[in-house]
Amino acid sequence: MSDICIFCRIAKKEIPSEVLYEDEHSVAFLDIDPLFPGHTLLVPKQHSETLTDLPSVQIAPIFEAAQLLTRAVEAAMDAGGSFLGINNRVSQSVPHLHIHIVPRRRKDGLRGFFWPRRKYETDRHASETAQAIRDKITELRAVKP
Ligand code: AMP
Repeated sequence: MSDICIFCRIAKKEIPSEVLYEDEHSVAFLDIDPLFPGHTLLVPKQHSETLTDLPSVQIAPIFEAAQLLTRAVEAAMDAGGSFLGINNRVSQSVPHLHIHIVPRRRKDGLRGFFWPRRKYETDRHASETAQAIRDKITELRAVKP
């Protein structure tokens, strides 16, 4: 817990929010500036800046909560689907891990996520990119099973 982190303070109920869900590891509340009604933020109670900082034992519990909240938000908002997103550092305005759960509808006008796509310049560029990531996975798994 950090005394100055706004999401730690929400988790500790020091700052008011519309809390939707709480368990041993996490708390979920309405985003104060929603893309659509029902836009939810799910955060770990333990202060972790990004997904990569979250202790691995907390990964399953928080994604179980995300699954429950996704079902609840979609059903309660009568949404056709949803978008789940996590900003890690870039575009992250609050440095405490948060999973956005946003109800979506077809033609809902949410253009901000239609980011321009760029094809790989060559097949070789794609295979080299894939190999660099595979090599890093092997390296990381050797360090931390
Ligand atoms: P991001 O830009 O991915 O870091 O998202 C941060 C989110 O936190 C934004 O969608 C904000 O609207 C939301 N937010 C910031 N302060 C609060 C707060 N006090 N209560 C609820 N949501 C907040």
